[in-house]
Amino acid sequence: MTKLALLGGDPVRTMLFPAHRNMGAEEREAVNRVMDGGVLSSFIGAWHENFLGGKEVRAFEDEWAEAFSVPHAVSMNSATSGLYAAVGAAGVGPGDEVIVSPYTMTASAVAPLVFNAVPIFADIDPQTYCLSAETIRAKITERTRAVIVVHIFGLPSDMDEIMALAQEHDIVVIEDTAQAPFALYGGRMAGTIGHMGVYSLNYHKHIHTGEGSLVVTRDPDLAERLQLIRNHAEAVVEGKGVANLNAMLGFNFRLGELEAAIGREQLKKGAGLVARRQENVCVLEQSLKDLPGLSMPVVPEGRTHAYYTHPLHYDATKTGVSRDTVVKALKAELPPAILREREGPLVNQGYVRPLYLQPLYQRLEEGGSATCPIRCPHYGGTPDYQLGLCPNVEAAHFKTLIHHDLMYPNLSRDDLADVAAAFNKVFSNLDVLAENEGAS
Ligand SMILES: *Cc1c(COP(=O)(O)O)cnc(C)c1O
Repeated sequence: MTKLALLGGDPVRTMLFPAHRNMGAEEREAVNRVMDGGVLSSFIGAWHENFLGGKEVRAFEDEWAEAFSVPHAVSMNSATSGLYAAVGAAGVGPGDEVIVSPYTMTASAVAPLVFNAVPIFADIDPQTYCLSAETIRAKITERTRAVIVVHIFGLPSDMDEIMALAQEHDIVVIEDTAQAPFALYGGRMAGTIGHMGVYSLNYHKHIHTGEGSLVVTRDPDLAERLQLIRNHAEAVVEGKGVANLNAMLGFNFRLGELEAAIGREQLKKGAGLVARRQENVCVLEQSLKDLPGLSMPVVPEGRTHAYYTHPLHYDATKTGVSRDTVVKALKAELPPAILREREGPLVNQGYVRPLYLQPLYQRLEEGGSATCPIRCPHYGGTPDYQLGLCPNVEAAHFKTLIHHDLMYPNLSRDDLADVAAAFNKVFSNLDVLAENEGAS
């Protein structure tokens, strides 16, 4: 049996994996069209015919709305901005609580803080890594105004159950769909089921414009509020005659014409790129599914997974080797990807540390330098941000989740074969790793 690279053997592969690159001649042409016109943004932050932006921005929004079968798509300059705007549009303010996931990119939990509301962390479901109706229900109080569900890693959350719960308690549901564009839930696009859905067009996402986002909704009032918050609401409400001034504080969250023009081309490629990820996962899982202690992600009936990443569940009690040792051994067998060399091989133990353990939340709970939103006359709750708060997320992050990106569309069958070979090599040397762990 060949010696593990971790123990001094030769690695399975040293040649870097190809870059995540999906720009083509179409995007270049779109950029040239805008450059030739010379207008890189048409937005005006006042009640004016250009309040809603320029030609490319409006065309991109219309095309996105059509592709996702939803009446309104409002572009933003990032999904972070989109989440902030969505929480503002929901009318969230001081004294309110917003239920959020602890296992997500940092912005999906910070959004309530921007409006002086309190993020309340609910646990994830251990199979889907998403919030579920039960974990949300356990955190609802009379102060709950909204919930931000995150379709993490690309799998849609249990939307029917969550929407029924939300209706019962009059809660606004925001779907953070940054990792799950084109994923389906009961035939509907993830992101179009809740009151608002937020997509990301950041470079690392399935399709991108460098930076950018869309927020979709079926509700014309929410669409109007999103447009206002995107573009200096406070300077526009008077001219436009807006009655509900709650959270009508504006930002500059506007998307440029270049990004919008690129986005129109990327949109056409989106479903195909996601299908390619699904194919790659299918190929890879043939080689991984029978490895000891390793389980493939569960995709419940009626849903599709967009595989932003490919989350694997690892059970050390079945192998006698810790997850962290297995991941170290995998990393030693595999190279990084071009353009992401500094991240090392794209296979990791866990995703991000449960967010409530960040210093920000620890400080908030202690009272720290901030008095609001927690030590605030409008707020009557006592949020908990301590270790132990969400056992499922802590188990996934610290013990069982192996999180890897090695299924993105640019990988060829040969690349995937190398990934599979690395897993097979490590999992057929578990006894060696166990001995080694015991010795150290
Ligand atoms: C990437 C991401 C975001 C933020 O997207 P940006 O466009 O980079 O601001 C938010 N939520 C999740 C789950 C993400 O993966």
